Amino acid sequence: MTESASAAVIAERLVAIRSGIAERTSRDVVIVAVTKSQPTSVIDEAVAAGVAVIGENYAQEVRDKADALQRARAHGVEVHFIGQLQTNKVRLVAPLVDVVQSVDRLSLVAELARRAPGIRVCIQVNTSGGLGRGGCEPETVPTLVGAARSAGLVVDGLMTVGPVGGDVVSLRRSFAMVRDLADSLGLSVRSMGMSDDHLIAVEEGSTMVRIGTALVGSRS
Ligand SMILES: *Cc1c(COP(=O)(O)O)cnc(C)c1O
Repeated sequence: MTESASAAVIAERLVAIRSGIAERTSRDVVIVAVTKSQPTSVIDEAVAAGVAVIGENYAQEVRDKADALQRARAHGVEVHFIGQLQTNKVRLVAPLVDVVQSVDRLSLVAELARRAPGIRVCIQVNTSGGLGRGGCEPETVPTLVGAARSAGLVVDGLMTVGPVGGDVVSLRRSFAMVRDLADSLGLSVRSMGMSDDHLIAVEEGSTMVRIGTALVGSRS
């Protein structure tokens, strides 16, 4: 078993990640600390290290970590749900998060509007053509944004997961597509980039990167 990351280690890595980003853009880029599959204590360590947003992927884990997530929120840290969300798990997840970044279908919009009126969301876009990572087709984004707004949700922006194992050219294409889509819809948040590709994402216009392993270490 490996030791999970301490606040001091996370703080040091935050500095390095921030400076890498600052070399590439003068935009404000929010760093989401992805604590999925990490011990609950990592949430407290990340908060102590000064992260502004915690990201979690799995409904069950959100429930198991509810106390730590609520402590984080009490410190002014936002909690974002970034994983695929089954409609029947909305009731469980919504009270514990500030933003659902992974909205990708009408049924999820409807259930969020019912269980969490006015909640903030991002629409997740599938930019790689790959199956199983979630996200709607790019052509569907305007419809989903409109539906979410009509249902009273607050649409912060768009989210994407770049092509897994993709080369630089396909990563850039994927991130640029989301940037252009967000621009055309007047949406400010472009949540794109993970540990391995966040610098490319920042070069292509990311305003929010979701960093797990590079910040809090490898997952169990
Ligand atoms: C796991 C995950 C991340 C973080 O991945 P790392 O490679 O560990 O940085 C970011 N976004 C989503 C949607 C994820 O599932």
